[in-house]
Amino acid sequence: MHHSIFESAEARGIFKDERFLYPEYIPEKLPFRESQIAEIAGSLKPLLRNGKPQNLFIFGPSGTGKTVTARYVLRELEEYASKVKGIYINCFEFHTRNAVLNKLCLALGNAVPRRGLASDEIYNEFVHALKVKNVAPIVVLDEADQLIRDKTASQLLYDLLRITELHSIHLGIILISNIRDTLAMLDDRVRSSLSALTIEFNQYTPEQLKQILHERARNAFFEDAIEKDVINLAAAQAAKCSGDARIAIESLLAAGRIAEKEGAKKLSVVHLKKAFERIKPRALEKALPHLDSCEKEILKIMCEHEKIFSGELYKAYCSRCKQAISERSFRDKINRLAELNILSVREATAEIRGRTREIMLAQPKEAIIELLKGD
Ligand code: ADP
Ligand code: MG
Repeated sequence: MHHSIFESAEARGIFKDERFLYPEYIPEKLPFRESQIAEIAGSLKPLLRNGKPQNLFIFGPSGTGKTVTARYVLRELEEYASKVKGIYINCFEFHTRNAVLNKLCLALGNAVPRRGLASDEIYNEFVHALKVKNVAPIVVLDEADQLIRDKTASQLLYDLLRITELHSIHLGIILISNIRDTLAMLDDRVRSSLSALTIEFNQYTPEQLKQILHERARNAFFEDAIEKDVINLAAAQAAKCSGDARIAIESLLAAGRIAEKEGAKKLSVVHLKKAFERIKPRALEKALPHLDSCEKEILKIMCEHEKIFSGELYKAYCSRCKQAISERSFRDKINRLAELNILSVREATAEIRGRTREIMLAQPKEAIIELLKGD
């Protein structure tokens, strides 16, 4: 008798519905983000009575739910008021004025020829489409630092702000970034007319991560197909990556697939550990191309220490690097690495030294070593 190669795959596996772990999935509820949701919704609400929305700047470390929360609010708003049109743009993909304007037109159903149109013309197309369609647009520029690095960014934001001023179409702008001082890179005039309200996303605690993961896993896996400690371990790994929920969710998906491929009846911590090896912390991946050789050297030293006082780290650095660096600029580098969530810094009181700073890695050592390989 012939057996289909898919027969075993159709048998009851580990996943009840793996789509609940997909990165684009937007949950029905976002625990621990209630206040941010309320603040975003409140800021955009004037759109519903043809008023002017409050522009927003959302910032916080990787995996703290910035993207999913913004999309969640857009979805709710669109469902509530059909006039609202959320336009989500990831600036990793679209990072020039021209590319963003193109994408905006496309979102309103106006295809723009691939070549030939100048930005000003695309801008006019977009304004025209907004008028014809009579929509209340909210433009989300996610990973906005990628765009703001580009010299056309201020002009683009100026374009968007001008739409409200000149055409009395109330357009909401939401900028999202990991980096606190993203807006400082904009022209003063653009920044002040944007007058964005800042909403901060703080890191999830290990306990919060556990609850978030339980909820996602409950929908994704058959209840008895997952070992008890798996969720706790996934949450612990995310906590090690400065609270990055994405790490945990991607790892659970990968682990479930590994378990099914192996024909296991239960997803175990062994599968999960295998999955960890495949999934790189986003904070690291994003930051690495932008680190200078000094910052990379600091990380190499940090990989040899659990924690270290800043003075000792400075000494270790000076003994290894010929290039001299002042204590002041060394401190700036540490602060930058902390801002990127690769290091964490704690004010400490050491007996002899008085006040000092204790430095620790905020990402798994193995992942840093792996990414620094070849440097
Ligand atoms: P960020 O944009 O801040 O890097 P994301 O919004 O991409 O983070 O979130 C990372 C992952 O964690 C996504 O899969 C997202 O759905 C999930 N997630 C984040 N916060 C929550 C939450 N409060 N409840 C459920 N899932 C969450
Ligand atoms: Mg994001």
